[in-house]
Amino acid sequence: MQNADLTEAPSTARIQRANSLAGDVYEAIFAQLMSLRIAPGSRITVDNLVKEFNVSHTPIREALGRLEGEGLVLKTHLIGYRAAPQITRRRFDELYELRLLLEPAAAAKATATLDDERLTVLQEAAGVMARREGKDERLRYSNFARQDAIFHDKIVEFAQNELIRETLNHQHTHFHIFRLMYHSRVTEEALDEHEAILAAFSAGDPDAAEKAMRVHIENSRDRLLPAFE
Ligand SMILES: [Zn+2]
Repeated sequence: MQNADLTEAPSTARIQRANSLAGDVYEAIFAQLMSLRIAPGSRITVDNLVKEFNVSHTPIREALGRLEGEGLVLKTHLIGYRAAPQITRRRFDELYELRLLLEPAAAAKATATLDDERLTVLQEAAGVMARREGKDERLRYSNFARQDAIFHDKIVEFAQNELIRETLNHQHTHFHIFRLMYHSRVTEEALDEHEAILAAFSAGDPDAAEKAMRVHIENSRDRLLPAFE
């Protein structure tokens, strides 16, 4: 139970520390899932994570709950947690078919709505600036996966169709596809393609934006297909 009437400074500081610990634990487990150190479908034991991160059960359970909401972790009654299984080839094909139907058109439509402020938002989200940052390869990879999700979501947001946005978000597309393969090529080439999309946005050219988005999604599909061989 929350002590809402005991909000003097010391307890606020404690809560903030607790929040950032929970956030750090979440990021660490997220990075392990994205980099396949925790293999798809494998069991996740709370006690093992408690030992590995040297924290209590609470932040671990919080992190796993959040990851469950993101479709990366499944919880089974009386059995516990496991990493979500890899998406099937059929699901993968369906996902890319859906993306190719919706996202190039959304990119074209978004172009007309972009002012300087929105362009800056997209430039930051595209991850191009942060290209060489960060030494921890796992963290860099998982950060890119999240950044890519934000970039694509922002474009659909600016295209002003909430139904399309909800439909794509509901699939947790980016978390699933980046987990198919852990390889720097996946991010490096995607960043080049993001730059092409941004260039079309900056030029205010909807046709070029549509084309650049189509090329990006088709290339992304082709990069990840070997995961099924
Ligand atoms: Zn992308």
